[in-house]
Amino acid sequence: MTRWFFSLQFRLIVAFAFVLMLALAAVGMYSGLAAEREVRDVRKASDEALLARIHEAFTEYYAAKGNWSGVAGTVERVSYLTGRDIALLDTAGDPIVAAKRSSRGDRPREKEDYTTSRIVVDGGHVASILVGPAASRPTFRPYRVPARGPVQGEALREIQEPSLRRFTDTAFRSLLWSGLGAGLGGILLVSLLSRRMLRSVRRLTDAAQELGKGDLSQRVAVSGRDEIGELTSTFNAMAEGLENAERQRRNMVADVAHELRTPLTNIRGYVEAMQDGVLEADEATIQNIHQQTMHLSNLIEDLRLLAETEAADFQLDLAPASLSEVVARSLDAFRPQAQAKGITITFAPGPDRATPERQVNMDRTRIEQVMSNLLQNAIAHTPAEGRVDVSIEESEEAVSVTVADTGEGIHSDELPHVFDRLYRVDPSRTRSTGGVGLGLTIAKQLVEAHAGAIRVESTLDKGSKFTFTLPLDW
Ligand code: ADP
Repeated sequence: MTRWFFSLQFRLIVAFAFVLMLALAAVGMYSGLAAEREVRDVRKASDEALLARIHEAFTEYYAAKGNWSGVAGTVERVSYLTGRDIALLDTAGDPIVAAKRSSRGDRPREKEDYTTSRIVVDGGHVASILVGPAASRPTFRPYRVPARGPVQGEALREIQEPSLRRFTDTAFRSLLWSGLGAGLGGILLVSLLSRRMLRSVRRLTDAAQELGKGDLSQRVAVSGRDEIGELTSTFNAMAEGLENAERQRRNMVADVAHELRTPLTNIRGYVEAMQDGVLEADEATIQNIHQQTMHLSNLIEDLRLLAETEAADFQLDLAPASLSEVVARSLDAFRPQAQAKGITITFAPGPDRATPERQVNMDRTRIEQVMSNLLQNAIAHTPAEGRVDVSIEESEEAVSVTVADTGEGIHSDELPHVFDRLYRVDPSRTRSTGGVGLGLTIAKQLVEAHAGAIRVESTLDKGSKFTFTLPLDW
């Protein structure tokens, strides 16, 4: 019950009922006032017409007779027919004759309730008539009237004359009923619609709860293209992302364990063989053990670097620097290695050396790390007599560095995965080169931390071309 009280559906219904009540009250008040004004106008106009007729009747009476003798019967009859008090006053203001016709429930009449009009015949003021207001509940009591003479006789059934007030009351009542009907219908419709709408929300809540408990396979069917549909799609995308991240994390742990185990098993094998006297602790054996420990420390260093770049608080030490200078320094560090392997390194520094003010905002050490990873790969995968060509290009808003080699290239099936963690094209071959499949992942993370992008093009047996781009203003 309390849940229902706090539910969105209940609040929607209450809000709708409240709005409806306000609308009804506003319409009721407006139409009530308008109808009342209209009734008042109609009553005033018909009153004026009635007074004009009474005035006309007495003017004609005087014009025909020349005096007021015998007028009492006419006053009585007109008063009876119109349901009004009528008094005829002489020019001095004294009553000639009066007829009272107040109805039940009427308050006693005041002087100001009466309308006075002067009767003028042949330019002379002959009398004034006072006409009382209409009764609040006009009733008409017909009499069986004798052939002639003043009104008297046997009373017949009393007739209640129609009141204009009844019209406004009826209008108000029909408005109230139709409003109530529309309100009930509206509330029913709102509760049905909101139930349908909130069913999706409830499904989302259930799925989110399951997700929170660890079931990352939760998905909710998208019900439409409205906001809730959009929320559902976003939820599904989030669940998908979480599931992928969780899968990657599990794979990563398994891969790292595997990567650590292989060199450790090798080292253990060498050491145990030496202990058993099967293997001599000569230079070659020590060299092999050293190679395995190097592989281990490379892996650990790469993992540390990757964890650092992926940390939420990873920060770059940004400062404007000349990219060609940074690239040249990295190249210098790799020249001896390339020379030893018989590989030629070329460098086309691009225009940025010529315009030192066009510097790039970067973390030098991190960009050197990117260059180092790309160059190490290029040299490792290029045979003797091969070439590694490094160039810099600048556009309006970005500057890009390309490391192209004439090496073994990468198969197009492998190409989309080379930036994945611990991904190696040929694990058995690259292990001997010391690579663990994290170099390009780290390079990508670092370039993206600079709001840049990295891409690769490669043809098998022809060579590979890695390009990373850094924005000039960011
Ligand atoms: P590793 O540290 O093992 O080199 P990387 O992430 O740097 O891992 O590279 C992933 C894979 O991409 C490597 O296994 C390698 O086979 C391939 N690769 C990277 N650079 C090149 C290149 N210049 N030429 C050919 N293959 C490359």
